[in-house]
Amino acid sequence: QNANGNYEVTLIPGDGIGPEISRSVKHIFSAAKVPIEWDEVDVTPVLKDGKTAIPDEAIASVKKNTLALKGPLATPIGKGHVSLNLTLRRTFSLYANVRPCRSIAGFKTPYENVDTVLIRENTEGEYSGIEHEVIDGVVQSIKLITKEASERCARYAFTYASQVGRDRVTAVHKANIMKLSDGLFLDTCQQVAKEFPSIQFNDVLLDRACLHVGVGFWGAISGRRLWNVVISAHYMPAIHIHVYARPLYTRRLPPTHALHLPHPRQIVEDPSHYADTVMVMPNLYGDILSDMSAGLIGGLGLTPSGNIGREASIFEAVHGTAPDIAGQDKANPTALLLSAIMMLRHMRLYEHADNIEQAVLGTIAEGKTLTGDLGGKSTNTQYTAEIIKKLT
Ligand code: NAD
Repeated sequence: QNANGNYEVTLIPGDGIGPEISRSVKHIFSAAKVPIEWDEVDVTPVLKDGKTAIPDEAIASVKKNTLALKGPLATPIGKGHVSLNLTLRRTFSLYANVRPCRSIAGFKTPYENVDTVLIRENTEGEYSGIEHEVIDGVVQSIKLITKEASERCARYAFTYASQVGRDRVTAVHKANIMKLSDGLFLDTCQQVAKEFPSIQFNDVLLDRACLHVGVGFWGAISGRRLWNVVISAHYMPAIHIHVYARPLYTRRLPPTHALHLPHPRQIVEDPSHYADTVMVMPNLYGDILSDMSAGLIGGLGLTPSGNIGREASIFEAVHGTAPDIAGQDKANPTALLLSAIMMLRHMRLYEHADNIEQAVLGTIAEGKTLTGDLGGKSTNTQYTAEIIKKLT
């Protein structure tokens, strides 16, 4: 806190729609009287030793404040350009990425009961960038897992679970195949679990977490038709067994006779199984599973995220710069706003977080003032004004 009793937080408005959605967050925060002073910095890349880099002033601001809210950044395409997101991640050792995905009342998707929290190890695994060509036509990409990185990520997962009142941590892995690397990640999670006796720990294989285990067999069960019969089961947290059958080969049948049996059911059929746990996993799995979870609540436009680091923590919307609608006052600021609310909880400013959250969710649930991506006709400015009206 500074001399005025306010917290100083770095704001990186970003590119494309970034400045528009950042402006909304600033307006709403100021109307809600959140004790934050924004230190706005520009991260337009500069050339340093022939490479694109983040300006020193921006780095210095995040280092000083240890907290930042970040809009989307356009990733330059082409050789010699380093992704600024990756640079930020490396510069501040942002070791864990937190992605909560909760269904938003009023925004209809096939799922109404999503409430997942996923923590992704953010610094190593498959994304260590250690790749080389052994001989022509043979390449090697090394997946690096260390006890140190696994431990700090696991410890954060347990700490987060206790902070948000979840009573379980679930490690997601493939230690059955990658016995050493994922094995180390899993062992480390088990060790860390002992430090948190009030939180349960379990683990699940990645494929089972998202797709059930399936045992399939083909059979000419029904005359000339080939059927695919699959018995599938998943065990998180209870055991569920589904049996389904679908025609595999129906070419000889006229279309009217084609059978429409239910599509094979997957874990995404009932995301509520994950509502009491915090999932923690290595980098690549987290990348994929977190986007899948975002898909369950209606896409990246509504998904916040936090990058927790040793030197600083950076909160950001998951979507990109939306160049197709930039500058037209059409952008939906919800994801950045929800990220800013996550940041408030990280700062333990719970009352302000709750106040702004109920105003956002209330506006969406009411359904009268929505931006185009949510099926409405309102501008970002009108949506922002409606949220401000609902603040207490
Ligand atoms: P995008 O997320 O920018 O856009 C995908 C679609 O979603 C577009 O139709 C867009 O209009 C819409 N959309 C996204 N956010 C929206 C919002 N808040 N409100 C309303 N509609 C929204 O993805 P893209 O087009 O693949 O990427 C564009 C640029 O963003 C690229 O340069 C990419 O590298 C960058 N990017 C940055 C980040 C980041 O900084 N974290 C993440 C993803 C992509």
